[in-house]
Formats: sequence, structure tokens, C-alpha cells
Amino acid sequence: MTTTRFAPSPTGNLHVGNLRTALMNYLIARKARGTFILRIDDTDLERSSGKYVDSIKDSLNWLGLHWCREERQSERFNQYVEAVDKLHGLGRLYEAFEAPNDLKLKRKAKVKAGKPPVYDREAMVLTQEEKEKLRTEMGASVWRFKLDRKRVEWTDGIMGDLSIDAASVSDPVLIRQDGRVLYPLASVVDDIDMGVTDVVRGNDHVTNTAVQIQIFEALGGTVPRFAHHALLTGPKGEALSKRLGSTLPLSLDNLRKDKVVPFALLSMLARIGSSDPVELRNNMDDLTQGFDLSRFGAAPINFDVRRLYALNARYLRNMPVSSVEKELASIGIPDNLAEPFWLAVRDNITTLHCLKEWWAMCQNGADPVIADEDRDFVKTAMTLLPDPPFDVTTWKKWTTAVKAVSGRTGKDLFMTLRKALTGRESGPDMSALMPVLQVVRARN
Ligand code: GLU
Repeated sequence: MTTTRFAPSPTGNLHVGNLRTALMNYLIARKARGTFILRIDDTDLERSSGKYVDSIKDSLNWLGLHWCREERQSERFNQYVEAVDKLHGLGRLYEAFEAPNDLKLKRKAKVKAGKPPVYDREAMVLTQEEKEKLRTEMGASVWRFKLDRKRVEWTDGIMGDLSIDAASVSDPVLIRQDGRVLYPLASVVDDIDMGVTDVVRGNDHVTNTAVQIQIFEALGGTVPRFAHHALLTGPKGEALSKRLGSTLPLSLDNLRKDKVVPFALLSMLARIGSSDPVELRNNMDDLTQGFDLSRFGAAPINFDVRRLYALNARYLRNMPVSSVEKELASIGIPDNLAEPFWLAVRDNITTLHCLKEWWAMCQNGADPVIADEDRDFVKTAMTLLPDPPFDVTTWKKWTTAVKAVSGRTGKDLFMTLRKALTGRESGPDMSALMPVLQVVRARN
């Protein structure tokens, strides 16, 4: 039974990079008819916040990434304590007392000497008396996991065969001074207890994986299949961190406010960075069917928001009015005009946000744009335009009549009249727009 999980820390809102992780895990579970777990990694009680938990869930629900089960690390401390006891029993934990500043100095000294900044295990050789003394001096200690200094190897679902020398990694702190268990251990305990079979996450976790594989083995758990995807990068090539992701227009909250359609976003994120083309899908089955983790590459991939908006525009072009009825009603478009309005403007909008602007134009008319040399022509043309309401034949009949009296043709005729009526050089097909246009200001 395939089981995956998306494990955000509720310390910020989700951005497109997080969504890519969530989506990959979701699609793997869905494809195998397995279980997708939402695990809230809130062991860091100070930095975690309920407001972010809500926002994470809202975003996932908005996108239709429904989870089968929800878990919270903050509710599982007892299980972590059991695992700690087990590791103590195995002699894999040792007490360490260095203050963060000492560690920093040690690391600096190592780097200066051209050595990898790996923790020197000085605390391991302390005698009982020395430990007692340090406990009194420093207060509580932390507990580190004693890594087995050998190579850790696994076949990564995206990066291929990986091998990390555990001797080049510091023994990780698993228990803080206040006794709280930290993420690297909590995550492994959860993955074992919840039967997680596949873990997809960003490649910033590759070293964690080497460490965690050793913790899995120490606890006697089955190591899941790991896959590490390349991080998405922002406009300047910078990796999308939590801070950056939520400030750029790439936070999911922001895209939602901007009324980006979920399937435009999902279609893009389920394929970018893979050898499959980004194609618009409008249901989860299609998205799932073509999804194949092995087709993703390990190179960093730039997320170009313009590409997303272009995809969104394409998506809207094929959307029937029934999918946007609520949206149209919410901006005050009467039922009888909903369909003609939608069919007229849907080819000319990037997001549903733009509907308001077009509706305002239909309702109030636009400031006409008329060149000096066209003034008389437009004046005459306006005398030939009947009063609203217009219908689908109005544009054709009107322009034919204007052509007959003015002799103008082509752009001189059509573009000049379009600009007089809509104030813009481009926009919806005029025959389709006329029936929803209620005010013509160029008349005055
Ligand atoms: N809470 C971790 C993160 O957000 C989860 C990493 C993992 O998938 O294990 O980076």
C-alpha cells in the first residue's frame, strides 16, 4: 500500500515550491490508489502558528489536493519519547554541552584549517565528573545521534544513485536542551508509524536523508523510497525559500487572490522540470495519469510566473459559462447577460480578476480614444448607431452603414470605431461585445 505525506512546517504560507512537493506526493499516492497524509510538522512550538495551519489547509483545499489523513507532530510527543528511549538503549545518543557560539567558533576553525566543519565529538569523551560539572555550569544539555561513520547509499527516485559519507556530516542534535525532540527524529518516527512508503521533498534535504536513513535503521523501521526534486527558483535564480516565496507573487494565497485557476497552476507544477511538456489538464485523473516521477530532472528550475498567467488565460478560453456563473454574479452581472458577456471577454482576460474591468466598461462606457483627424468621422458614425440595447447584428449593420457614408474601410473604419467605443485598441470581438455594451460615451 503506497503511502505518502506532505509535511509542511506551519511557519509561513505555502508557495509554488511547496506546492510542487505536495503535488508530487499527492499524485504518487493517487496513482497507486494509496494514502496521502497531511502531516503538520509543528515540533517547533515557538515558530509554528495555527494561522499558518489554516492557511496551508485552505490552499490545499482550494487546489483540490485532499488528504486522507491529518497528523500533527505536536500531538505525538509520547511516540517520540519511546523512540528516544530506544536510541538511548542502543547507545546511539550522547550528551553534548557546547553553547551555539562555541560550535560556531569550532566550525570556523575547521574551515580555516581546510577541513569539513564536522562536529568533533568532543562531548563523547567527557567523564561523568566533567559532565556533572558542565550540567551545573551550562544548565541542560542537548543529545546528539551518533552517526555510523560509513557511506549511506540509496537510489533516489529523481537524482539516481546517491552516496553520502556520514563521516562528513555532524552528529545531528535530536533532543533540545528543553527536552523537545527535533524534526529529524520526529519525522522518522512518523514515517515508520504511519507506514510511509515514498518521500518526495526538495533536494535541500539530501543530507537529512542520509542521517534519517541511519535513524530508520537504528529504530528498525523500513526505509521509504526517497526522491529529491530540484528547488524552484524565483526571477533572479534564487531558490524559493519560505520568506522569499511568500513575498514574491508566488505565494499560493496571492495566486488565489489573483483568481488563478487551480488547474492552470496544477498543470504547470505537475510537469515543469520534467521531460514531459506542460499541457493544460482540467481534472485530477488526467493530471495523475501522465505523472511519472522518473521523468523529472535534478537541475534547478525557474518558475516563470508569466508562463503561469499565459496558461491561465488559455484555460479560461475554454471554460464554459457554467463554471464562472458565481464569479459573474458576484460582480453584479445580470443572469441574462452572463453568457454573452463571458463569451465576449473570455479570450481577452488573463485571470478572472480582469472581468471586473470589462464589466465596468460595458456598464459605464469607456472614455473614447479619438484622434483629431477622426473627430468628424466618429461624430457622423455615432449618428448612425442605434440606441442600446444592441444585439449581435449591430456591429455589422453599423459598420456597413458607416462605410457606405464615409467610404472608409479596413483599419481606418474598424479600429477607429473600436477605439471610440471601448477606448482600447484591442479587446473582444466587437460583434460579441455589442450586446453587452450598455453605454457609449463617444456619442456625447
Ligand atoms: N517539515 C519539513 C520541511 O518543511 C518536512 C521535510 C520532509 O518532507 O521530511 O522541510
